[in-house]
Amino acid sequence: MLELIMLGSGSDGNACVVKNAETMILIDAGFSGTEIRKRMQSVGLEPDDLEACLITHEHGDHIKGASILSRRHKVPLLMHPATKRAGHRKFNGSERIRHFEMKEVMKLGSLQVTSVPTLHDSASSTGFLIESGGVSLGYLTDLGTVTEDNFLMLRKVDFLVMEANHDRDMLWNGPYPPHLKARVDSRVGHLSNHDSAEFIALLAELGQLKGVMLAHLSEKNNDPDLALSVVRDRQVHDLEIFLAQQNQPSKPIIVEKK
Ligand SMILES: [Zn+2]
Ligand SMILES: [Zn+2]
Repeated sequence: MLELIMLGSGSDGNACVVKNAETMILIDAGFSGTEIRKRMQSVGLEPDDLEACLITHEHGDHIKGASILSRRHKVPLLMHPATKRAGHRKFNGSERIRHFEMKEVMKLGSLQVTSVPTLHDSASSTGFLIESGGVSLGYLTDLGTVTEDNFLMLRKVDFLVMEANHDRDMLWNGPYPPHLKARVDSRVGHLSNHDSAEFIALLAELGQLKGVMLAHLSEKNNDPDLALSVVRDRQVHDLEIFLAQQNQPSKPIIVEKK
């Protein structure tokens, strides 16, 4: 069994709890330490109980509260060495930091976590594959393109947290300056609803995927109902589709063997 609670997701901050009966981890700490604690406590969880916090990359919306979380609650931060180097200004040396390599398989308590390299304009960027008791969960945000490697590593997941960042028409007709539009739309930017829908459909066709949570939706360049309908309309198979919100935690989602 795996349980997932998205504490919040979007360009103003990202943090996601993943747990089984024994072990709880956090993916990203992109809110203030106080906000992370508040959101965890609102769903009955305590940051002191975290086994570790995995960091996808050094952008502020993923790392903002990492240092204080580690210092205040003695939570080890796990990241790629390039993330540590690029984000060094956000650390003061008294955090507990451990490194992983790309595709490294890590044992965190009773969870098994594998880092999944992603294409994004940061020093290093990674998604994760999390496995426990025969079920698995993929976590993939902040990527401009889905690679064949991403597919191969995540093709057997039961549940997927997947970026659906923008609608391309809304992006190009929207308020961003041209260079930022080009950045978001590039192969190392963020994933559109359409590309997200394609990848989800590809995995669903293999028969293992049972549900997805769409994450990191842009407030300016996307609309939750639109993201949902683009992804839903592309599916041939029955899938449970959830939407991550920026301002409040999701309900707990249980991923079980069926
Ligand atoms: Zn981000
Ligand atoms: Zn990013």
